[in-house]
Order: sequence, then C-alpha cells, then structure tokens
Amino acid sequence: MSPSTSSDVLARLPLRADLRGRTPYGAPQLEVAVRLNTNENSYPVPAEVVEAIAETVREQLSGLNRYPDREFAGLRGDLADYLGHQLTPEQIWAGNGSNEVLQHVLQAFGGPGRTAMGFTPSYAMYPNIAATTGTGWIDGLRTAPSGTFELTAEHAAGQVAEHAPDVVFLCSPNNPTGTCLPLDVVRAVYEASTGIVVVDEAYAEFARPGTPSALTLLPGRERLVVSRTMSKAFALAGARLGYLAADAAVCDAFRLVRLPYHLSSLTQAAARAALWHADVLLATVEELKQQRDRIVGGLAGLDLSPVPSDANFVLFGGLADAKAVWRSLLAHQVLIRDVGIPHHLRVSAGTPAETGAFLDAIGTVLKEGR
Ligand code: PMP
Repeated sequence: MSPSTSSDVLARLPLRADLRGRTPYGAPQLEVAVRLNTNENSYPVPAEVVEAIAETVREQLSGLNRYPDREFAGLRGDLADYLGHQLTPEQIWAGNGSNEVLQHVLQAFGGPGRTAMGFTPSYAMYPNIAATTGTGWIDGLRTAPSGTFELTAEHAAGQVAEHAPDVVFLCSPNNPTGTCLPLDVVRAVYEASTGIVVVDEAYAEFARPGTPSALTLLPGRERLVVSRTMSKAFALAGARLGYLAADAAVCDAFRLVRLPYHLSSLTQAAARAALWHADVLLATVEELKQQRDRIVGGLAGLDLSPVPSDANFVLFGGLADAKAVWRSLLAHQVLIRDVGIPHHLRVSAGTPAETGAFLDAIGTVLKEGR
C-alpha cells in the first residue's frame, strides 16, 4: 500500500466544504538580500526603543501567571492619545494585527447570511476573512472608465446602494494601488450604506501632505470604523498590533466575538512602550516616502507606468510579462510582489541601498529582456 500524502489525509478529513480547495494566504518568506514584498518598514527598531520595550516587557514577566488585562485599558488610552481627534479609550479596539481587528468586524457584523463588499484591486485579506467567517463576498469594481484605479464617490456609492452589503471595506491608501481616497468617497459610501463602513488606513502615516484621515469623519457616524496598524510606519510588524477607532458601542460589540484575553501582557507592554516612543519610531517615515517617490521617478524613467503613491509601496505597470520579471528580479536577490494584476508588480520602498538595488536590478532585467 502506498503511503498517504497529506493531501490524501486532508481529502478524508471532515473539513468545512467551503474551505476545500482553498490555498492559505501569504507572500513567500524567502531568504534573499533585498526583501521588498510585504510593505514592512525596512529599518530595524532603534536601540533606544529596543531598550524601552525590553524594560516594559520585563516588568510583566513575573506576573505572567495571571491573565492579561482583558480590556487592555492602558493600551487603549495610549492609542487614543496617539490618534488624537479627541478620541476616548472607549472608542479604540485592538487585536493581534489589524487582520485580527478586521476579523472581529466580520465576526460581529458579517457572518452567515450576510455580505461584505470591497473594491478590487484592494487588500486580498478582505475576501479571505469574509470566507473564513462565512460572510458572502461582493467584488465591487474600482477601475474608472478612464482605465485608472481611481474610485469615485459616485461609482462607489452606486455599487453599495445596488448591493446593500452589511460591511463595506474602503482602503486608503489602497493596497496594492497606493493612492488615498478623497473623503467625499467615504462620505458618499456611508450615506449609501446601512451597514458598517470600514476605512482601512494601515498606511496612513505615509500619505502625502494635505491628505485628511477618515478619523475626522467619525463624529456623528456610528457605523464608521477606521483601522490602523503598528506593522508599517511603526516598524513593528513582528509584534502584531493592529487597532481601530469607532463609536464606543461598536467597540463594545467586538467584546462579543474576541477570544478572552486575546492580547497578551507582552503584546500590550511592547505596544505601549513603542507608542511612548512614537516620534523615534516614526522618524523613518519621511525617508521611506523619499524612497517611494524615487521609485516612482526611477520606474517612469524606465518607461514603466508607476502609480503615484501615498503609501510605502508602488504599483507599476507596463510589463510585457510580469511573472518573468518577478522571477528575474529574484535571481538578482530582489524579492517584490506579484499581486495578480496582469502586467503589474508591486514593490515596497526600502532603505536607500535596498531601493537602489531594486532600481538597478529592474533596469538590468528589462535590458536583458529586450
Ligand atoms: N490592511 C492592509 C491594507 C494591509 O496591507 C495589511 C498588511 N499587509 C493589513 C491591513 C494587515 O496588517 P497587520 O495585520 O500586520 O496589521
């Protein structure tokens, strides 16, 4: 008898029918010199902040025999202070990455018999979390008649009015296209909807000057949720801390679906220490924005079509064979992202050296391909 492979075993297991045949989400984690594929902050946590986090976490260690503060009150206060806009701790919710926070949104306001909607191309985890929470997914379109990835208020609100989803995901700056949404789009979608409207601002700190946050729209809008993360500008992807701001009643609803004690004492302590040093951690944001703009200029100079970006990454088109370019870049020790849009790839802004390595490599790869 031949041995069973893991897929043979999986085929026999009583897995949920709707999960059969699905592939786990995740970008390749490869050991290459230049990793610009997951929009992390390339800069290591500065020594001063390492010390502060170590000290704050250390203070928790002898108390690890006890469960953490289930309501993470101190952290909520610090996050409210960081966001400003007169937000109170009761208006803040947090989880292990903003992915978990988005999962809480769908667990509480989506679920079987309900629907969520996003505007493709956007963050691929929205349909993914919809699927795992049993929420139906409605794929809205973001491509304007002009052929760009621009989402207008009229186009977005029209689609929301037509489908009446229970949850709408707007992403600003949008991953993978990079651009912010004007607030009139958020206002129009909110008016057209009777459900929860999430504005995912994971990359907000990188936005170009003068770009307002949807946080300014929270007063008087009890169905509006604005999510953020410490994984990008704060250079803390490994710590897993995402959060949102919303009406206090919305945050209260998440207590019905979160697992008890979902944020460990260590996570809470590390995130708080990082927030106390926000200015030091965010000091790399300006440098990364310069590298982002350098990428846009450099790629345009290679006759490619970069999309102007408010984030720490750039989507670019004009590639005859995007998959071949992705593979050739990897052969040059540069890892970027194939987001599945034909003729396009996405690259994160890195340190000046990493960004230079990417621009040199793609110049060489395009020349080789001609
Ligand atoms: N939202 C967007 C738009 C993202 O790009 C990401 C990460 N790639 C996330 C949310 C989730 O990030 P995290 O769970 O690390 O907070």
